[in-house]
Amino acid sequence: MKPTAYTPIRRTKIVATLGPASDREGVLEGMLRAGVDVVRLNFSHGSADDHRRRLVEVREISQRLGRSVAVLADLQGPKIRIARFKDDAVVLGEGQPFVLDMLLDSNAGDITRVGCDYKTLADDVIVGDRLLLDDGRLVLEVSAIKGQEIHTRVVVGGKLSNNKGINKQGGGLSAAALTDKDKRDIKTAIEIGVDYLAVSFPRSAADMQEARKLLGEDGKEIGLVAKIERAEAVADDEILDGIIKASEAVMVARGDLGVEIGDAQLIGVQKRMIKRARSLNRAVITATQMMETMISAPLPTRAEVFDVANAVLDGTDAVMLSAETAAGDFPVETVKAMDRLCLGAERERSAQESGHRIHQDFLQADETVALSAMYAANHLAGVTAIACMTSSGFTAMIASRIHSGLPIIGLAQSEISQRRMALYRGVVSLAFDTTSMKAEELNDKAIELLVSKGIVSQNDHVILTRGNHMNAHGGTNTMKILAVNQSIR
Ligand code: PGA
Ligand code: MN
Repeated sequence: MKPTAYTPIRRTKIVATLGPASDREGVLEGMLRAGVDVVRLNFSHGSADDHRRRLVEVREISQRLGRSVAVLADLQGPKIRIARFKDDAVVLGEGQPFVLDMLLDSNAGDITRVGCDYKTLADDVIVGDRLLLDDGRLVLEVSAIKGQEIHTRVVVGGKLSNNKGINKQGGGLSAAALTDKDKRDIKTAIEIGVDYLAVSFPRSAADMQEARKLLGEDGKEIGLVAKIERAEAVADDEILDGIIKASEAVMVARGDLGVEIGDAQLIGVQKRMIKRARSLNRAVITATQMMETMISAPLPTRAEVFDVANAVLDGTDAVMLSAETAAGDFPVETVKAMDRLCLGAERERSAQESGHRIHQDFLQADETVALSAMYAANHLAGVTAIACMTSSGFTAMIASRIHSGLPIIGLAQSEISQRRMALYRGVVSLAFDTTSMKAEELNDKAIELLVSKGIVSQNDHVILTRGNHMNAHGGTNTMKILAVNQSIR
């Protein structure tokens, strides 16, 4: 394959969570200028008004900067938490007994017992199970179940404070993925106009289908993201494939998933999940603790440098920041560091090469054209960009499943489609309004736009995909190789 010149357009997308840190004067704009492609509204914290205010501000800034930035609403889901302590925290010692008491008053916890908001937890555990508290920092082993009380012995002790999360090692808690709060939050997400909706803790495709149903007609343009964070979601290839296919994108939610399956398992699972999502034509986000120390430090550790780089080399569409940008001291610096690290990793030859579906049949005309265009672009000297005229962004997404060193330009009329493409690796989306264009000038107009944006120049070639009719979904049936200097007059 021909060597491709390194282009300093970052291909891997950056998702950044908003919160009190990004609310500080000028910070959100600084983050977007530093290259955030997707913002995450975390529905585990904040009110509907907070989310609306942040979305409006993102839209205003991104419009001013002339960039497509997608908004992702992330539902809280059935995260199980302990209740509160009389003194806000206790320190549990190794070997001591400790009781999770479903009937205890929510504020009455002490060194012997604490309440829990998930009233049926006692039905989901048996003697010998290990419960992991505070992201696995503390470990309790179940010694007896007495009615609504779970009696345990502390295996790994430490400080335990109010409302910390509980996971069961190996998974198997029965809570449904969508809580009543989530159902109310879905309505808010539709109302404020988000682009993506993330469902937390789905157990199977059925949970994603239920979310799709709740989005209904009013939310039909919202893309669903399945957060893979339960052991049972990755225990079986068929279940994982089902969840991926029922969604537009998946998230490797390494926080909860790592607690349930253990850190050693997580390594292979991340790699397989990224591969699988891409081969099923879905986007994938790698999340949690990517730059954790930058919550309070201006530079990442070497381990974090390589964590981001490895996710890029694994083929992820996007890398995600959580508390680093929502509650950290260095939100803008963190985005700048992530931008720099993605670019560094993308320089590696292996990040630009692809064997994607090379031995497989294609199913549809549009995907055949998109994949052929990438194959041609990667192999023909002189081609410097792929441009896809697309109504929904689908063609650009299919094209971007193939690794390349060349930018894929998604030309779309709809702003929703432009924003949706912000998540796809290697895709730059541009507004392309064809309503006043004649059919015979479409190609030239597309090239002119690419030249005006500085993406291609005089002696370059561009591979263009399009259909007979603009804006007809699924209509892509043509690939053209265009010389720029013949197009610009
Ligand atoms: P959270 O999800 O940040 O909402 O917990 C991500 C994860 O668990 O990794
Ligand atoms: Mn989680």
